[in-house]
Amino acid sequence: MVSRVIPVDPFDLVLFGATGDLARRKILPGLFHRFAVGQMPDGARIIGTARSAMNRAEFTEAVHASLLEFAPEAAKQSALLEKFLASLEYVRADAGGEDGWDTLAKAIRPDVVQAFYLSVSPALFGSIASNLKSRGIASANSRVVVEKPFGHDLASARDLNGDLRRNFDEHQIYRIDHYLGKETVQNLMALRFANALWEPLWNSTHVDHVQITVAESLGVEGRGEYYDRSGAMRDMVQNHLMQLLCLTAMEPPSRFTSDAVRDEKVKVIEALEPVAPPDIVRGQYRAQGSAGSYRDHAGNPHSSTESFIAMKVNIGNWRWAGTPFYLRTGKKLRARCSEIAVVFRGPPHMIFPDMAGRRSNAMIIRLQPDEGITLRNTIKEPGPGGFRLAEVSLDMTFAEALGERAEPQDAYERLIMDVIRGDQTLFMRGDEVEAAWAWADPIIAGWEDVGPAPSPYDPGGSGPEDALMLLHREGRRWREIGG
Ligand code: NAP
Repeated sequence: MVSRVIPVDPFDLVLFGATGDLARRKILPGLFHRFAVGQMPDGARIIGTARSAMNRAEFTEAVHASLLEFAPEAAKQSALLEKFLASLEYVRADAGGEDGWDTLAKAIRPDVVQAFYLSVSPALFGSIASNLKSRGIASANSRVVVEKPFGHDLASARDLNGDLRRNFDEHQIYRIDHYLGKETVQNLMALRFANALWEPLWNSTHVDHVQITVAESLGVEGRGEYYDRSGAMRDMVQNHLMQLLCLTAMEPPSRFTSDAVRDEKVKVIEALEPVAPPDIVRGQYRAQGSAGSYRDHAGNPHSSTESFIAMKVNIGNWRWAGTPFYLRTGKKLRARCSEIAVVFRGPPHMIFPDMAGRRSNAMIIRLQPDEGITLRNTIKEPGPGGFRLAEVSLDMTFAEALGERAEPQDAYERLIMDVIRGDQTLFMRGDEVEAAWAWADPIIAGWEDVGPAPSPYDPGGSGPEDALMLLHREGRRWREIGG
């Protein structure tokens, strides 16, 4: 059975940066998928805009080519494809200049949902937002969507928030963190708040520690110059891993509304304790064979930017005091894998003499690959060879459990439809982003001022040796990446 889709209201989606990489690879294919399953109503239009001189036919042709590349099944659905392409318009506009705004104002219908997707450099957010407002293009009901990175530090995030809030109310601003659009990330909320089984165990009395890993097997090839200005802390921890930590650690919201959920996430961030230098390990991948090192890929022979980071984070509140959260993310690691492992404490009293086969109970929530949940249990080793213990997992892969209903969807599809629905639950609120930077800034300042430089690590492994020690020294160990 294929899942039911509820069509959204008719809309005009104005896509700034419509000729850019993100629009071509993610946003337009995502919109096509939603169109193909019947979620986009007949009255929906997508108005692409950029500085490039193009007419509607040329833009449509460019989008057609992108869909064949990034949504190849579109080629087999020619009637649908034609209909989707017919919903496209193009307006040439310069975010920083005078061109195009009047044409854009005339192109937008006042009686449908209006969404302005800013898939452009954050340096353009301010001028686009003020043009939309001052020229009367956006109304009090319009929505504006912005992309990561949302700031480089607290000061720049505040500036961006200022640029947006001068022209739009917070309830109109949708800050994307595409991790929140992933099915398993949303499932974390269902798992925690739609079941009675876990909540009594979900605290420091029963949870020994939590590991959050986002590992990539690729390096920074192709985006080295951009990455070198940011590093793993800014590019991944301050946003994506922070969101995973919040959803794992937050209190149950009183209801499933965007502000109730986001209030609870902000409280988690505000409860984070400062992270001391001994609790942080930064790394940079070495060259391997003919594959270059991080510094080669970044084009910066003296770079001290981290391509790997692991850290121990403590949450200073009643639920989590005494239960560390270990975060780890990096490039060129053994496998591409994202997961949250909640590792439980042992039984208070053990009656079995042979404990060799026992491992701590753990719930592993896999975001990728093979989205699903594993519960690690201890059972009796079968057979008459003495009462020995063994580890067995209860494994639920969503693809197997849900069949067609678990068909993977790109996070962008879900998020764009939420913008049209007016649901901000899976978008970061301004105070949330600022709280995350307020926590991250002093950590980053710690190594920017005094070092130490990142430790080199071999590609294809688990990062620097010191990262293993972060847990070993406390009698714990990381789960094997991709294991
Ligand atoms: P990109 O490939 O460089 O595209 C930028 C787009 O902005 C182009 O369509 C460009 O078209 C347009 N543009 C540039 N200057 C403009 C101006 N003055 N007025 C109007 N349009 C202008 O960038 P991208 O990779 O798509 O990224 C877009 C945003 O998404 C960035 O903030 C990026 O950090 C973020 N992001 C990207 C990815 C990704 O995978 N690419 C992932 C996460 C977040 P013209 O040159 O024709 O004007």
